[in-house]
Amino acid sequence: MTVSLKQPVFEPLPLGAIKPAGWLLGQLRIQANGLTGHLEEHWADVGPDNGWIGGKGESWERGPYYVDGLLPLAYLLGDEKLIAKANRWVEWSLASQKENGDFGPGRIETVNNDVDKQQDWWHFMIMLKVLTQHAEATGDERIVPFLERYFRYVRGTIEQRPLQGWAKVRGAEMLLSIFWLHERTQDSSLLELARIVASQTTDWTTIYHDFPFWRKVKEWDWRTHVVNVAMGLKTPAMMYRLSGDEREHAAVHRGIDSLMTYHGQAHGMFSGDEWLSGTHPSQGVELCAVVEYMFTMEQLAKVFGEGRYGDILEKVAFNALPAAITADWTAHQYDQQVNQIMCNVAPRPWSNGPEANLFGLEPNFGCCTANMHQGWPKLAANLWMGDGAGGLAAVSYAPCTVRATVGSGAKLELDVSGEYPFLEQIGLSLRLSRTERFALRLRIPAWCTNPQLTVNGERIVLPEAERGYVAALREWSDGDKAVLELPMEVRTSSRHLHAVSVERGPLVYVLPIRESWQLLRERERFHDWEVYPASPWKYGLEEGTEFAVQVSDDVPAQPFESQHAPVRLTATGRLVRNWKMEKNNAGTPPLNPDVAGQPAVKLELVPYGSARLRIGEFPLIRQHYDKL
Ligand SMILES: [Zn+2]
Repeated sequence: MTVSLKQPVFEPLPLGAIKPAGWLLGQLRIQANGLTGHLEEHWADVGPDNGWIGGKGESWERGPYYVDGLLPLAYLLGDEKLIAKANRWVEWSLASQKENGDFGPGRIETVNNDVDKQQDWWHFMIMLKVLTQHAEATGDERIVPFLERYFRYVRGTIEQRPLQGWAKVRGAEMLLSIFWLHERTQDSSLLELARIVASQTTDWTTIYHDFPFWRKVKEWDWRTHVVNVAMGLKTPAMMYRLSGDEREHAAVHRGIDSLMTYHGQAHGMFSGDEWLSGTHPSQGVELCAVVEYMFTMEQLAKVFGEGRYGDILEKVAFNALPAAITADWTAHQYDQQVNQIMCNVAPRPWSNGPEANLFGLEPNFGCCTANMHQGWPKLAANLWMGDGAGGLAAVSYAPCTVRATVGSGAKLELDVSGEYPFLEQIGLSLRLSRTERFALRLRIPAWCTNPQLTVNGERIVLPEAERGYVAALREWSDGDKAVLELPMEVRTSSRHLHAVSVERGPLVYVLPIRESWQLLRERERFHDWEVYPASPWKYGLEEGTEFAVQVSDDVPAQPFESQHAPVRLTATGRLVRNWKMEKNNAGTPPLNPDVAGQPAVKLELVPYGSARLRIGEFPLIRQHYDKL
């Protein structure tokens, strides 16, 4: 057992050091003008009666969830109104601290899932993440002593009131804040507390190392709840920081492999329409799982410094995240489906209710309404990290400006342009206070076989990527311009029962189905909608079809709208006569598609995240069926 905390390979930059640009800035503004910026006025659960601002209403996870996304969004945009909204929650929490160090709403009325919420630690863990982000963004000196007092309180009580329920499976979220404080105070008693919290947390390492959940799960089990699974994957990384044990690291990789083998879907997530749900493309995945898996990938990138987590983060962020939210950010889904042909009130073969794939304010259950806001802001805040050796490492190439101190103290401003992932060329422009030797560690995605780098127009020969990275280590000067080109080939993968999905770079491409939006419940601003198909959906792809790529250099402010998609692929397909609807879903893509009499047609495919009705896993039409 080590007595110190293992250093992460990468060091995140403080919130505010990275400013979003290009389409990502557009995305954050749309979010601010939609649900995130206005939820308090339209949803009582995070309104003025919320317990985390002194009211008598919701006092559990919803307030902290909401601010966990609102606060970073506010600082990334530098939006004073949103900062004021976030501050109200922060200030109430700070003022609520009692002499014994405890804080937060005192009494909680409701009881859920056998956990007496007065005994629950879970919702506090979220507010701790809010407070650490607040401290990074503002330098507020009250946060460190506040956390010191709180963790002394936790140390004094947690053995009598151990983690249970949600807190037990999500104990790693508390470890994040304990480690954050330890990095600032070096107080060794925090590591003692961390070991107690770790010992009370579900043993995710064993679960991921020897993954036992091979089938669709139908019964309540904390360990197969899709959000817990998405969050739990960071637990071995937290344990690794405490122990340095390589088995923890192995468990992360083995866990990802197993999840994708037994439950993986085309968008880069594993399924979970409450419980892990297998690979069928009509099973759903919950939006909370999407944003939590992204946050987990950001933590794994930090601890292990491997490119794989950036690959997964991009795939989920650029596909599954935008797909579940309307382009104007006024409605979201609880469950999204890869093959999503109809979003309506209807029973489906999942554990969630008949409203789970509607677009609306709180379809099925309000957790995602509160929790969805962290997705884009935390991605933006983690696009680049310090590499631990005075340089910078790219976690993702979405457009932004990074401010950091590099080398032996030079000030750097790095502009990342190029509208990746829609375009293949990433521009890196450096403004430096002085010439300085340091590395830009560039993530080379696993899908890219032929990356090219030029610096000031001169081609640099890149070494083989190691753990997903190459280092451009050199004397950098003010005004230097590098261009990283990541050529994106179209590729197909074989999925559930030999259905195929189509990818190019980190984007998944789908057949959009024309959408007929029907108002189901009108509210003042955030309505509920059913979406019905207004064009045929049952197309298969011809085996060996050519894919033509059309790219528009003009990437719109909202690129996740199918009619304005900046990249389109065309391919050849046919209507599949024996592809049926089953239980209000697209049925299993037929293994032997019947296309007799159906002409070959040109299909136009768009990015997954831009089509709210779509086919993303296609039956494969093999040539010999023509001859039957
Ligand atoms: Zn949720």
